[in-house]
Amino acid sequence: MSSIARFAEVVVHSALGRSTRPTLPSLVDGAARPELAQTFHYSIPAHWQNSVVPGLLVWVPFGPRQMPGIVLSTASSAPVEMTRDILGIIDPQPVLTPYQIELALWLAQYYHAPLHSAVWSMFPSGISWQAETMLRLGEAAVSPSEQEYRILALLREKGPMSAKELERRIHRSGLGRMLGQMIRKGWVLREIRVRGPQVRPKTEAVVRLAARAEHESLAALSRAPKQRAVLSYLCQQSSGQAALEVPLSEVCKQVGVTRTVVDNLARRGLLSIDQREVRRDPLAGRQFVTTEPPKFTTDQEAAWRSLAPALESARNQVFLIHGVTGSGKTEIYLRALAEVLRRGGQGIVLVPEISLTPQTIRRFAARFPQRLAVLHSRLSEGERYDEWRRIRDGLADVVIGPRSAIFAPLPRLRLIVLDEEHEWTYKQPDAPPFYHTREVAVKLADLTGAVVILGSATPDIGTYYRAERGQYALLRLPQRIMGHQRSLEQQTAELGLEQQPLQVKAFGPGFEDARYMEMPPVEVVDLRAELRAGNRSMFSRALQRGLQAALDANQQAILFLNRRGSASFVMCRDCGHVMHCPRCNVSLTYHDDVQYLLCHHCNRRVALPEVCPQCSSRRIRFFGAGTQAVEQAVHELLPGARVLRWDRDVTGGKDAHEEILDRFLRHEADVLVGTQMVAKSLDLPLVTLVGVVSADTTLQLPDFRASERTFQLLTQVAGRAGRSILGGKVIIQTYAPQHYSIQAASQHDYEGFYRQELEFRRQQGYPPFTRLLRLLFMDGDARRCERESLALGQTLRDRIALMGLPDMHVIGPAPCFVGRIRGRYRWQIVLRGTDPAVLLRGWPLPLGWRVDVDPSSLL
Ligand code: ADP
Ligand code: ZN
Ligand code: ZN
Repeated sequence: MSSIARFAEVVVHSALGRSTRPTLPSLVDGAARPELAQTFHYSIPAHWQNSVVPGLLVWVPFGPRQMPGIVLSTASSAPVEMTRDILGIIDPQPVLTPYQIELALWLAQYYHAPLHSAVWSMFPSGISWQAETMLRLGEAAVSPSEQEYRILALLREKGPMSAKELERRIHRSGLGRMLGQMIRKGWVLREIRVRGPQVRPKTEAVVRLAARAEHESLAALSRAPKQRAVLSYLCQQSSGQAALEVPLSEVCKQVGVTRTVVDNLARRGLLSIDQREVRRDPLAGRQFVTTEPPKFTTDQEAAWRSLAPALESARNQVFLIHGVTGSGKTEIYLRALAEVLRRGGQGIVLVPEISLTPQTIRRFAARFPQRLAVLHSRLSEGERYDEWRRIRDGLADVVIGPRSAIFAPLPRLRLIVLDEEHEWTYKQPDAPPFYHTREVAVKLADLTGAVVILGSATPDIGTYYRAERGQYALLRLPQRIMGHQRSLEQQTAELGLEQQPLQVKAFGPGFEDARYMEMPPVEVVDLRAELRAGNRSMFSRALQRGLQAALDANQQAILFLNRRGSASFVMCRDCGHVMHCPRCNVSLTYHDDVQYLLCHHCNRRVALPEVCPQCSSRRIRFFGAGTQAVEQAVHELLPGARVLRWDRDVTGGKDAHEEILDRFLRHEADVLVGTQMVAKSLDLPLVTLVGVVSADTTLQLPDFRASERTFQLLTQVAGRAGRSILGGKVIIQTYAPQHYSIQAASQHDYEGFYRQELEFRRQQGYPPFTRLLRLLFMDGDARRCERESLALGQTLRDRIALMGLPDMHVIGPAPCFVGRIRGRYRWQIVLRGTDPAVLLRGWPLPLGWRVDVDPSSLL
């Protein structure tokens, strides 16, 4: 970098104000095409020349406003003639580390996203920046009216003030219009200032016993039993500890008194109440039993032998742990983190969804109690900002969180763990950049020299493909661990069972303490046969028997249902035939508003057949059922059963999900009915039956990942059964029992599935053999959506011909499978090729199109 940094290249916060494209000051970069400008240059005032460094959060003038911006780089010259000064430094410490700046540049480029979106996605989201209009005196006024004079006098006397404050002082209708005129005449100058992030430290009242309190006889309070109770509680709490502080709320709760009682004691001088600053701790109020790491199993030991050298030498490398649920992956993450911390490094642990992984969080909290920061999307703004600052200031060494935790500003990052790496929640869905956390993690590790550990029982096809080709190191944990002998005995006792002979294998010499166990047996039930046998119920005979048996034995069952795509595809109930698009090989979707079947890839329309094209049956129907219907069916079958429902619609407090889970864990219900969420990592020892009500809903989604998704879900759900000495079984109901994803899932055969799926992808030309780029258009006007899409589709085809790109294909345009979200219609165009982004580089897309590179689905 050059010697004197006189100019700063700044990425201005964009999500402010009415428009994302505010009018720009003239002669600033990008004046020719303002919407294309990514950064702006400002001059650095002399006294800040040493303080303004890349990553710094500053105030800059932007048109008539003052906006927050992040410094990307500094230089001795600027590419534009005129620059304005940086106005202020918001935070003396940089908010982005140097490697994060590099990462942001990569994000913007790879995901074809605006640079400001990439840069600002690294800063904690949800921090409010409030815009405020400031007014001050301008030129001398020429014959102002009486009212105008009042305003000018006020500004002269008090100095600049906000428009809000002026309104408070001058109550008058039409003030806004009058001010507008004064501004136009130049008498008053207006400036827009943005405030934030303003988070006041949180404090709480704490109670401390006065020195003389202990000597004061409790008997003196004999007429005030409540005060007496408080005093004796505090004496008890602080026995042996001088000056112990107990939160006031805690005292009131424990003793069962109101605050007035404590106040009275304070007035007597027996205790004092003070305010103490507290960190907003998302883990507060929870107990963590610190745990000792167990001795590794032979499988874990083998994996560790590959991992350890990379951790020791801080060599950038990506590992994929392919291990069935319960095979000890988390234990390896914990050990790797401990190793990294021991060497002075730091780590990020990514989980698919915090609210669904409370047990995982607890395990990390138990192992690293003081050094953990949890970034939770449900944290309040203040909590999130507190945690972020703790991390930035070096007070946390382990950060655990969902996808955005990848942007935690850890200066000594050495390890990134991505648990359940195949999960779709790792793809950012809402706003650009539409990044995939796995790709970001791999890039980040490349920039920082960190190690990446990806873990899954059902790795993403693309990830496994890379591992197979040697890009990632593959570690296998093929067997499930049954936990400690000690905990087995404990479980047996807790469950009130006799010690039983177990289906276990010893680990080998030195590992007598823990055991491997078999994966649960999976039964695939053919629903077509059920129908032929006259069973029209939602549950097959096998599932009915299974439920009955589980409840008779006082055990628990999970019924899994995949609601996505319900009532949308058309299937023959006799032969299981599903209507497919002959061209795209994806299922056709029924739309009852228009009465035809539609292909969401190529827009082909097909009349709804009256009879099944395969077996001529007339029993063709739309498929799907909701969790409520399943709950109802359980009640009809087993009137005494206690059913708990868990799906995405569950509302309530911020811990609603955890509460449901806890209730089920405490055996307050016999059957848990749920959607995808029940498939996540839960350890439920009493669950001996898992029933998949219908495996077909995901299988028939018109998406190239439908089979992969189905296999993953079935495997994950099946992994919920038989996690304890009670054993367990899985029943999968389906109309497509021969489909390879169902067959492979029922045999716990990832490899088998992977081979077939890879072949399918190769034949159809889908990833990992090609790359996709999805262009999405959304609009409240259906016709406009269609028009725009058809026009862009044509333009893109012309461009391909012009550029001579033979391996590039345009799929569509067509309406999306999810054709309308919140009143807006959705159309898409999919580009397919080795590098589809080539088509868009240096060529501005028409407004309104969203670019999704490597889309995780085409729905
Ligand atoms: P995964 O992350 O693959 O699902 P876990 O790490 O959660 O697997 O391990 C499954 C269970 O086995 C947990 O209860 C864990 O405490 C236990 N466990 C893991 N490793 C060992 C070990 N080496 N010895 C004994 N128990 C273990
Ligand atoms: Zn049929
Ligand atoms: Zn088609």
